[in-house]
Amino acid sequence: MSGLPRSVYLHVPFCRHRCGYCDFTLVAGRDDLIDQYLEALERELRRLTQPLEIDTLYLGGGTPSHLGGERLERLFAMLRQTLHPVEHAEITLEANPLDVNEPFVAAARRCGVTRVSLGSQSLDVATLRVLDRDHMPDDVRRASGMLAEAGMSRSLDLMTAAPGQTVTDVERDLEAIVSLEPEHVSVYCLTWEQGTAFETQRRKGLLEPVTDLAERAMFEAAIDRLGDAGFEHYEVSNFARPGHRCRHNEAYWDLRPWEAFGPGAARFDGRTRVTNHRSTTTWIKRVLGGHDPTGDRDAMSAEEAARERLVVGLRRRAGITVADFETVSGFTPRQLAAKSIDRWIADGLAVEEEGRLWLTRDGLLVSDSLWADVL
Ligand code: SF4
Repeated sequence: MSGLPRSVYLHVPFCRHRCGYCDFTLVAGRDDLIDQYLEALERELRRLTQPLEIDTLYLGGGTPSHLGGERLERLFAMLRQTLHPVEHAEITLEANPLDVNEPFVAAARRCGVTRVSLGSQSLDVATLRVLDRDHMPDDVRRASGMLAEAGMSRSLDLMTAAPGQTVTDVERDLEAIVSLEPEHVSVYCLTWEQGTAFETQRRKGLLEPVTDLAERAMFEAAIDRLGDAGFEHYEVSNFARPGHRCRHNEAYWDLRPWEAFGPGAARFDGRTRVTNHRSTTTWIKRVLGGHDPTGDRDAMSAEEAARERLVVGLRRRAGITVADFETVSGFTPRQLAAKSIDRWIADGLAVEEEGRLWLTRDGLLVSDSLWADVL
């Protein structure tokens, strides 16, 4: 076990509306639950038997900015009782561009937020409409400028492979994002999740995914343009200006222990992942009723933990140092996946040299299809 967690995730499950592609743990249009949620969160935080000194805190969702400034301050007053961020801690808040206004930014600053992950997705009106987003490109520009002025580090999300989107559209989006000079960009390819409105429409022939070829070209365009603009491609989906990697995600990828609170939130003690019930109402009921809100408990064997470590390690651009991997996990990569590794190397998807194993650009482009063999 690797000591007390120094990272905390807090799930805020509220959104104004549910975007058609989204299958996250959230409730839309249920602001009537917010006060009970905050009460339940305060109760769940009492699970900690001692205050935690933390390096990173991440408020994700859902849309944490949907709480508004006043409730955000109430939430942070509550957190301060048990969570003690160190000096220069990274405190990230996910925000919808529409929620970012002066009072909100001032409240976020008073709370100690250092970094805002803006759910921008695109700066093209047609793509935003297709993606069922409720904001416009100008909202992203305005929000980004306001956050920069407040001295906050900004991460902008870019979504690719939206129905009808072309490579040229993505190139335009990249130009628009680069011109906003964010410190960090996350690029996600649209996935068609079971149970979403998008997947239902796809089955009915009303929405059509882009081709694999186009999807790949879009991702390559992102790698090239963001690389030219001085961003370091440090993980499959993540690009950062020097010194601006997401430290919270790096804790996940190092499989360091972390705490998590809220519906659907998963915590990890170095070996066991414990996930809260995904339903916001059930989680609230259980916590306020004094019952265990846990849904799943996934205790990994040493080998399973090592396999997961291999995947998160290879998702990072730097890959893994074989000797360090063995020291930490107790396994060599080849003990876990010799055949796959040999095949990747033969196919030009991975390289193993001087004690290091990493994915090539071609490997990164198809990485999602590689992991089933390892896990
Ligand atoms: S705003 Fe984000 S979390 Fe909320 S429904 Fe849309 S994609 Fe999902």
